[in-house]
Formats: sequence, C-alpha cells, structure tokens
Amino acid sequence: MSNDRSFSFDDVLMIPQKSDISSRDDVCLQTSVSMMNLQVPIVSSPMDTVTGHEMLYSMSIAGGLGIMHRYNTIQEQVSEIKKARTLGATNLGAAIGVTGDYLERSRALKNEGVYMFCLDVAHGHHVVMERALKKIKDSFGEEVVLIAGNVATSAGYSDLAAWGADVVRVGIGGGSICSTRIQTGHGLPTLYSVMLCSAQREFEQGDTLIMADGGIRSSGDIVKSLAFGADLVMLGSVLAGTPESPGETIVDTSGHKRKVYRGMASKEAQTDWRGSARSLEGISSTVPLKPPTQEIMQELAFNIKSGLSYTGAKNVSDFQARAKYMLQSSASQIESSTHILQGGGGRS
Ligand code: IMP
Repeated sequence: MSNDRSFSFDDVLMIPQKSDISSRDDVCLQTSVSMMNLQVPIVSSPMDTVTGHEMLYSMSIAGGLGIMHRYNTIQEQVSEIKKARTLGATNLGAAIGVTGDYLERSRALKNEGVYMFCLDVAHGHHVVMERALKKIKDSFGEEVVLIAGNVATSAGYSDLAAWGADVVRVGIGGGSICSTRIQTGHGLPTLYSVMLCSAQREFEQGDTLIMADGGIRSSGDIVKSLAFGADLVMLGSVLAGTPESPGETIVDTSGHKRKVYRGMASKEAQTDWRGSARSLEGISSTVPLKPPTQEIMQELAFNIKSGLSYTGAKNVSDFQARAKYMLQSSASQIESSTHILQGGGGRS
C-alpha cells in the first residue's frame, strides 16, 4: 500500500520565470507521434454528448483532434466519420472497445481512412486491454496510432506502453460527470497521475505520449497538465454545450439555453446505448450553450501560449524541462481565483 500525499489542479501554481518571448505567436504548441500531428494538443472526448461529426470537423479545423464516440453501431460510427470528411475534416480519431466488435469496428474505420484509434475503457490497466492492443497491432502494424486507457498509475502507463500504445490516456475518477470515486472508492487526482506516469517515462527513457483526461476546466489546468508531463489533454465538459456537440439545445424554465452533458456510465447513457443500466459511475447533467468550438479552441490555444511564455518556454518540451511549481495553501487558492466579490475589493 502506498500512502503518498497527492494533489490536484487547484493545489498547484506554476512559478513565473524570466522570459525572452516577445509574442505569443513565437510559442509553438505542436505535438507529434508517428502519423499524428496536432497544432494544438487538445483532443475531444469520445462521449455521445461531446464528439459527433460536427465536433470532429471543428477539432480538425482548429488543429486538435476529435475522437468519434463508440456508443453506436459500426455503421452509425462510420457514417459520422463520412459526414465529417464531407465537411472537410482531415485529422480524425475514433473510439473502439477492447471486447466484442472492436476488431470488426477497427477494420471498418480503417477502410474509411481512420488510423487513430482510441481503445476506450474505464479501467484500462487490464488483461483485456493487453489482448486488444496486441490484436490491433497484429492486424495493422505501424499503420495506426493507438491511444489507450484510462490508467492512473506508473505501472498502468508502463504496461500500456509495453503492450503497444502510442499514447496513454491518464486519469481515473476525475471527470466532471464522474462518480467512480464515490461508487468504487478508487481513483487518483488526474494531475498527480500525470506526474507519476511522466516520472515513469523518464525512468524508462520511453517515448509513449501522455494524455491528461478528466477534471480539466480551463486553460490554466491545461498548462499545469503540460507542465507535469502531459503531451496532450482530453476535454469533455469544456467542449460540451458547444453548438457542435451532439444533442438538442434545451431552453430551461428561466429561458436559458442549455445542452445535455452526460457520463457514458450514467444511467441515461447506458439505457440509451444498451437498453439497461448497471454499475453507474457517472451522472447526466446540462451545461449552458457555449460559443462555437473553434472560438473556444482559439482562446484556449492563445491562453496556453501565454502560459508557456510565463515560464519563458517556446514549445511544450521546453516548457516541461523548465517548469517549476509550488503547492499552494488554501489562502493562496482563494487569492488565485477572481475574488473581488468575496472580499469586497478593499481593506476596511
Ligand atoms: P471532464 O473533461 O472533466 O468533463 O471529463 C471527461 C472524461 O470523463 C472523459 O474523457 C472520460 O475519461 C471520463 N468519463 C466519461 N464518462 C464517464 C462516466 O460516466 N464515469 C466516469 N468517467 C467518465
């Protein structure tokens, strides 16, 4: 048993450092692994209220990556991919499971030109993940980029990398709609998991990428994820509620426009995609209707570049090498938020 003290996004602050960056345009956020090349290290989550064909298109245009969710038939998933290509998307990812139809699904997707697969399960450090990764590698060799997860520990990262993952999705129980930690008592703060996996990669001198996933609410959280070793981040709630996320716009009783955002292990999602619900580990909620995805992505990219410039870093690997952080007190956490309303804005 380990009794390490862990920390989360709000416990941490990055320390500003001397900078010679004169413009945010001098900061590059590009991330590459084999055939995957993103201008902005942001990936949309494979959830049925986040990524359908319009999100795939918008993420591709914005320089990130959308992962088409898998809670549908193979034909439906392929049809969404086709629609995104019509629109003009080039960078496309798709989720598959690790049991059932995942091989057939991956073949159908590959026939549509998709080569970035996300092996998408709640507990990815599992023997079925090992089998699935090896089978997909046997089928497609180096023709595919494999994103696999989720894991929370250095052992999870190490195993998935050894089993053939190009990118490991890191974070268990931190999602905004997630109740895994309440239901099962298991999980780790996402930022802490990222740090563990990053330390493991350094120890092994490996090159498998880390994708932070779950609990990211802002560009500040993205900057902290990158600082602790993530190469990419996955977003659910930040992109939910955009016009491009699947689902109808609802008008609530106060006249505000909202959209549904739900965990894929919520009662509502499970009932829709498999007819009944068991082992509930998520909730269904609504979020306000947001501006278009491309606007959100532009703003995030701009703020992340600003974040790197506070450390004096020109790119993500430079940032990871230079970044310094401190754990902040609860008084400092209050100061770190916009706090004028709590304090009244002055000394009395
Ligand atoms: P968010 O960005 O904090 O909203 O978290 C999104 C992440 O939550 C997804 O990328 C998944 O890893 C995770 N997730 C999605 N659905 C569920 C669920 O029902 N239970 C637990 N985690 C979930």
